[in-house]
Amino acid sequence: MRFTRLRLNGFKSFVDPTELVIAEGLTGVVGPNGCGKSNLLEALRWVMGENRPSAMRGGGMEDVIFAGAATRPARNFAEVSLAIDNTDRLAPAGFNDRDTLDIVRRITRDAGSAYKTNGKDVRARDVQMLFADASTGAHSPALVRQGQISELINARPKARRRILEEAAGISGLYQRRHEAELKLRQTETNLTRVDDVLEQLA
Ligand code: ATP
Repeated sequence: MRFTRLRLNGFKSFVDPTELVIAEGLTGVVGPNGCGKSNLLEALRWVMGENRPSAMRGGGMEDVIFAGAATRPARNFAEVSLAIDNTDRLAPAGFNDRDTLDIVRRITRDAGSAYKTNGKDVRARDVQMLFADASTGAHSPALVRQGQISELINARPKARRRILEEAAGISGLYQRRHEAELKLRQTETNLTRVDDVLEQLA
């Protein structure tokens, strides 16, 4: 699986449709301060399912929509699409039937986010799991923010362990365990309720 193209439309400063071709090997993005380099990296995190506005340097998720400029009105939606070359057929099950995967996330003011893979509506969780199973995603240590190296040096051992887990490709399992624990807790609560009802009937 290899990222081949990132397309932005109305995302932060990228008001006009913009395409970034991601060639094989190392990609560098250079430009003057404030030209949108970090916005590009945030678009990549966002399309992979990032759901914390703070990670997008905003107060709410709608802050990723182009907010307007002196000569341009604000936009009503933002869309990012990521094309992935899957000719090696390494995409997780359920997404592995095509040579190219096209992941799209769109946010509309007052209507929230919607995701599509190859034109089909999917849940945020499906997209997050797709990338987690492929050992990448919005929280991947492969995406290095400014200041992140010093954060890592000062991090607690537990936070560092997460990075090793990601590299070992088990973060998808970690997410599934968390969901299983939530279901277990819900089932325990339901059982307690059943016990209460049985006691009342006895
Ligand atoms: P530096 O080199 O200083 O880190 P950079 O190239 O990484 O800068 P970014 O931080 O990606 O630049 O882009 C910042 C620009 O994006 C600012 O001009 C800011 O006004 C603009 N911007 C951010 N969010 C929005 C938005 N929702 N609508 C319009 N413009 C936005």
